[in-house]
Amino acid sequence: MARSFFDHLECGYCGERMDKEQLVGLCPCGRPLLARYRLEEAAAGWSREDLRGREPNLWRYQEMLPDAGEHRVSLGEGMTPLLEAPRLGASLGMEHLLLKEESMNPTGSFKARGMAVAVSMAAARGATRLALPSAGNAGSAAAAYAARAGLEVDLFLPDSTPTPFRLEAEASGARVHLLAGSIADCGRMLASRTEQRQWFDLSTLKEPYRLEGKKTMGYELAEQLDWQLPDVVVYPTGGGTGLIGMWKAFAEMEALGWVRRPFPRMVVVQAEGCAPMVRAFEAGAEFAEPWENPQTEAAGLRVPGGVGDFLILRTLRESEGTALAVSDADMRRGIRTLARAEGMVTCPEGGATVAAVRRLLETGFLEPHQRVVLFLTGTGLKYLESLVV
Ligand SMILES: *Cc1c(COP(=O)(O)O)cnc(C)c1O
Repeated sequence: MARSFFDHLECGYCGERMDKEQLVGLCPCGRPLLARYRLEEAAAGWSREDLRGREPNLWRYQEMLPDAGEHRVSLGEGMTPLLEAPRLGASLGMEHLLLKEESMNPTGSFKARGMAVAVSMAAARGATRLALPSAGNAGSAAAAYAARAGLEVDLFLPDSTPTPFRLEAEASGARVHLLAGSIADCGRMLASRTEQRQWFDLSTLKEPYRLEGKKTMGYELAEQLDWQLPDVVVYPTGGGTGLIGMWKAFAEMEALGWVRRPFPRMVVVQAEGCAPMVRAFEAGAEFAEPWENPQTEAAGLRVPGGVGDFLILRTLRESEGTALAVSDADMRRGIRTLARAEGMVTCPEGGATVAAVRRLLETGFLEPHQRVVLFLTGTGLKYLESLVV
């Protein structure tokens, strides 16, 4: 058995504790459950030097992950490159720009991180059939890990999802249901189906372990920067798992004595045609109202709302971060600027972070000397239309 300091599950809103040995989704209050660890014991018995020589994937942080025992499935996810971007930085006016290249993950996006841990844990807790709504990458990743684990998966995708996502998931044996509407409509359809009782729902933040997989981006940033956290993290945000997860990771690492404050200022980037978190942040709200008629070619950002809204907003405020929306045209320009400068063809969501840097320099939120990490969350090769000029 892998060593893990996982202790219990706790509601991120009401604080209710739940048994971690059961297959669970949300807290009975309807909000996300968070995994909690025995951090004092871990601080005394585990050190960052113990990471040396471990495999370059996210399971190197297994002490701070749940233990799926023999049900762990991996395709080598995590420990993606953190690359200096001198040419892109110069073109934007930044001296220390860094790129976290998440397209190197299995199925070409960082969704692999969350699904590796969530599918492993679902299998360990006895699930045999999985289901989720997805805008694209989550479905591809769920299909891959379900195949690897020998589980069934039903995917509910908006019919506007680029074809490669659907074909990739079907190739791995997923049952794909295409629906008119947004990912929220897909979620409602999933919930209304009669099979629903046999399915374990892997929707964003509706089970506790995708978040744990995604939080490893925070551990990697710290380890790759020799435990000096960057000044700012720019993150294209849909359901917010990665943003919330990294913030959780920073707090865990502080308790372990591995990093110190200040933590990075967190920046949420959304699309002008779907910006519920930007609107809620600007209004000073605790929760976000769902966005009507979401429109953007960045499928991962076409998320009108979600159960983690209050955690995203809390992270923004605690980190003294900010939220902004960019246009699809600016995302496309961002893709090309990045590809010409550094040779990486990213997705529209990644392009959005490049557009965000320009804007944040103009507003004075960013200063040229700051160490800023952009998350390139997936490959551009599944969104060919966004590459056409
Ligand atoms: C899902 C997705 C996002 C949004 O990630 P969250 O952590 O759910 O906010 C961003 N980019 C891409 C490519 C995605 O697939």
